[in-house]
Amino acid sequence: MNSTSTIPDLYAGTDFSSLSFLERQWVNWYVWIGNPVIATGLMSFLMHEIVYFGRSIPWIIIDAIPYFRQWKLQATKVPTPAEQWECARSVLFAHFTIQGPLIWLFHPLAESIGMSTYQVPLPSVKTMAPQIAFFFVFEDLFHFCAHRALHTGLLYKHIHKVHHKYSAPFGLAAEYAHPAEVLILGMGTILGPLSYCFITRNFHIFTMYLWIVLRLFQAIDAHSGYDFPWSLQHIVPFWSGAEHHDFHHMAFTNNFSTSFRWCDRLFGTDKAYLKYRAQLKAANGRSKTERLELERQLLEQVEREGVEAEREVIKSTEKKQD
Ligand SMILES: [Zn+2]
Ligand SMILES: [Zn+2]
Repeated sequence: MNSTSTIPDLYAGTDFSSLSFLERQWVNWYVWIGNPVIATGLMSFLMHEIVYFGRSIPWIIIDAIPYFRQWKLQATKVPTPAEQWECARSVLFAHFTIQGPLIWLFHPLAESIGMSTYQVPLPSVKTMAPQIAFFFVFEDLFHFCAHRALHTGLLYKHIHKVHHKYSAPFGLAAEYAHPAEVLILGMGTILGPLSYCFITRNFHIFTMYLWIVLRLFQAIDAHSGYDFPWSLQHIVPFWSGAEHHDFHHMAFTNNFSTSFRWCDRLFGTDKAYLKYRAQLKAANGRSKTERLELERQLLEQVEREGVEAEREVIKSTEKKQD
């Protein structure tokens, strides 16, 4: 199919009466825009903006309500509205200047490897579920390896340090990162679907959208700074969640994965985290005041060690340059 085909060509021979409500909206969008490249590019960009900021808004509201502090992982570090606004502006700027143009190029790339875009019917849940499960596992492994590399010497000093500006992250900070980091870690998100499509030649962009929506939810929630009793990690024990990633921002040397806990367990990069958890658990019999005081002391210690570890990484680059 040629990208410049007109819309009547795209849907020639389609039986519209057999389509679901969602599929009719899908067709309407492509017909309304009138050009598949622009329709896919615009839909991808808008979806990313709506989901990213839409999912961040509840966390901004939660940060503004003191009642929720009881579930804040670093209770004394609530982001100010000014900090959140500054972060939102940087992320938005990056979306328009870096992600935007890349998203625009996606349609021609998708078509060149045989990905369905404007086509209907859309894939069923049964088709999408195993594909998305594979993307989650692939991304987690990719992210773990790349993220560990980003914590070394010059890669940290010149790239990943930007994301570590916040030792107590918040939802909006999920994509607050150096452009090179967006490209490197973004590969983990899109390489799964691209390679799946390349090998099977049977893949719809709708599945990719659903995967990206779930991945955005995962990333924003992991940066939220809150661990509720109903958070997913309490239901799915190998799910990382905010409790796991918040510790990464604080301790610096632990918890490099995104969605799951198994890579850090397997490679032993969660030892300080497990020790911290065990120390908190051991204090379970004590009074609430004593437990809160212990938690405060442990968090302070973890953060001190984190600051020191970060300083060491930066120092190591200076030694090499001497
Ligand atoms: Zn990091
Ligand atoms: Zn982070």
